[in-house]
Amino acid sequence: MRLLIALVLAGVLGAQPLPLGRIPPGRTLLVIEPHHDDHTTDYGMGGLIARFVEEGHRAWYVRASNDEKDGAHGYPHNDMINLRESLEATRILGMEGVHGLNWRNDYMDSIPLNELRAQLILLIRKHRPDAVLGHDPWAHYDRNPDHRKVARALAEAYWMAGLANVHPEHFELGLKPHRVPYLFFKARVDYGKGHEPNVAMELTESQVRKKMKAYSTHRNVYASPAMARAVRAQIEIPEVKGLTDEEAAVRFEEWHMEWISRKRGRENGVRYAEVYFYRDEFDHLPGLKNYITSNTVKQ
Ligand SMILES: [Zn+2]
Repeated sequence: MRLLIALVLAGVLGAQPLPLGRIPPGRTLLVIEPHHDDHTTDYGMGGLIARFVEEGHRAWYVRASNDEKDGAHGYPHNDMINLRESLEATRILGMEGVHGLNWRNDYMDSIPLNELRAQLILLIRKHRPDAVLGHDPWAHYDRNPDHRKVARALAEAYWMAGLANVHPEHFELGLKPHRVPYLFFKARVDYGKGHEPNVAMELTESQVRKKMKAYSTHRNVYASPAMARAVRAQIEIPEVKGLTDEEAAVRFEEWHMEWISRKRGRENGVRYAEVYFYRDEFDHLPGLKNYITSNTVKQ
């Protein structure tokens, strides 16, 4: 027992690998996020989006904020640059387009939750996604107010879009209630509590490459030449010799995406991965799920 405790304290045993997930059946994916760059952070989800698209889904991105405070160019200019980079990054991932809701960056607390949720319900009813991806609303210690607000609105909209008594005015537009069967939530797994991934999604090298490229497209907030210049002043890195500071910065960001995808892969017994909290269509009805699992017969 004493040896076991010592091994755990020393980190020798490590965490158990998560089960490997599959892309659920369907044709449409909706990614609902606060910001222009949330599809390509180190803890999600550019690789999974690329995999959904490669396996036959059409995907749309919802950017709830106007991202005016991300960057050093002043509010209106930041908004324009971040939208342009978001369009380019989502195109690299194979997505169809971006819906900008344009709420003011970092000031979302004053938006009525009902208002934001109604917009997300409308978009879910419009696109009728088979799967939705977004931030985990139960991840504690997320300091970003937009992340908390949009995540909560998403968790509620995901359920309420299927209820006929909710926003019946949408039906005058020809829309119908829509129940989303599959859900993937992301959050940092190295910080805070509340978010417990239950599935690892394996990625191919090409999917990681798309994620790397999409991430480094957000040059207004990442890939800073000044950062690269400071690093190069301290250590010599042969792989970036002859590149400009901006090119070196892009290379560093791409390596970061490659490294974190490889790390999550190694933790879960594959080469590359991302990890998520996943719900399938019957997880909220465990009794029915058990019944179906034990009684379904293949025809
Ligand atoms: Zn964000």
